[in-house]
Amino acid sequence: MRKAAGISFSGTEPEFTGYSVQAELACADALQPGRHYTAEGMYLFTPPGTIAMTDFDGGAFHRSAPITREHIEAVMRKISGADVTVTKLELATTWTDRACQASAYRNDRVLLAGDAAHIHSPLGGQGLNLGIGDAINLGWKLAATIRGDAPAGLLDSYERERHPVGARVLDWSRARVALMRPSRSSRALEAIIRDLIGTPDGATYFAERVWGVSIRYDLGGSHPLVGCSVPDFVLSDGRRVGSLLRDGSGLLLDFDPSQSIQALASRWSGRISYVAAHARDRLGLQAVLVRPDGIVAWASDTASDEVAVGRAMTLWFGE
Ligand SMILES: Cc1cc2nc3c(=O)[nH]c(=O)nc-3n(C[C@H](O)[C@H](O)[C@H](O)COP(=O)(O)OP(=O)(O)OC[C@H]3O[C@@H](n4cnc5c(N)ncnc54)[C@H](O)[C@@H]3O)c2cc1C
Repeated sequence: MRKAAGISFSGTEPEFTGYSVQAELACADALQPGRHYTAEGMYLFTPPGTIAMTDFDGGAFHRSAPITREHIEAVMRKISGADVTVTKLELATTWTDRACQASAYRNDRVLLAGDAAHIHSPLGGQGLNLGIGDAINLGWKLAATIRGDAPAGLLDSYERERHPVGARVLDWSRARVALMRPSRSSRALEAIIRDLIGTPDGATYFAERVWGVSIRYDLGGSHPLVGCSVPDFVLSDGRRVGSLLRDGSGLLLDFDPSQSIQALASRWSGRISYVAAHARDRLGLQAVLVRPDGIVAWASDTASDEVAVGRAMTLWFGE
């Protein structure tokens, strides 16, 4: 579909063939459990017979030939340097660190999401989250467009918001590869990264990148929460923001209930739920407008300004 839509797919070519293997082994004691970097690559052994390996062959083996018991045994010996024998191959699959992204996520009626829009190595388990993030961002925009009440440009904001997120994850996966290369400089770099992860700021940085919670879309707006995932506020009656978003509409959360704001929100009823409630910790906010994908579209620390709220609701939910 991507090719038929004339959308190009480019990036960086692989450095290795990765293997995920389940096998019966003789002399398995020759392999050390855990992750090991060697002069030839990396292996991760979980006894009795689960192995992940990277062979820095430029990705040459991947999909070039059947994956046989003999081949797996040879790669295992090469990477580990251990005299291990594969007596039975139960499962084996290969993958690479090829990292490519579509030049555009939309061409007219064709929209790309998930692996159709971006591929990279599975190191660090980023792919599924990235694809689900695309779907969450796109779903409500597509629905509004099909219903006919989307504001101008809403569907195009999908690519504007998600393409940079994809590019960032691709670079993250490339950085992982740089740390895994069988070279002395990569081991030195890895040691430095380990030291940084050992610090509170470093651990926070890495956790936020891995879980994707540091994503902030550039939506304009002056409040630091705009473009971020809404905090899961707990309301005074025990409800949480997450549950208020389940029906797929937007949410205007008014911590300082005002009748004029409620009246204004009623113009978008069906598209936005208005909830006036106190929260256990409202982080200093007076009101927050949340898109159906959980992203803060507008927030205010001071008394809600009808003009600003109305402008934000028109921008994201149409007239
Ligand atoms: C070895 C490996 C390990 C991984 N580990 C992780 C991990 O730990 N964590 C993580 O988050 N991600 C991981 N990933 C990545 C993750 O699997 C993918 O990012 C995710 O599956 C992509 O989902 P998708 O729906 O976009 O694409 P896919 O899962 O590829 O789904 C696309 C579907 O469309 C179907 N299809 C294709 N063409 C057509 C057509 N013309 N008509 C109808 N149907 C069609 C296909 O058959 C397929 O079922 C891993 C990937 C690999 C290869």
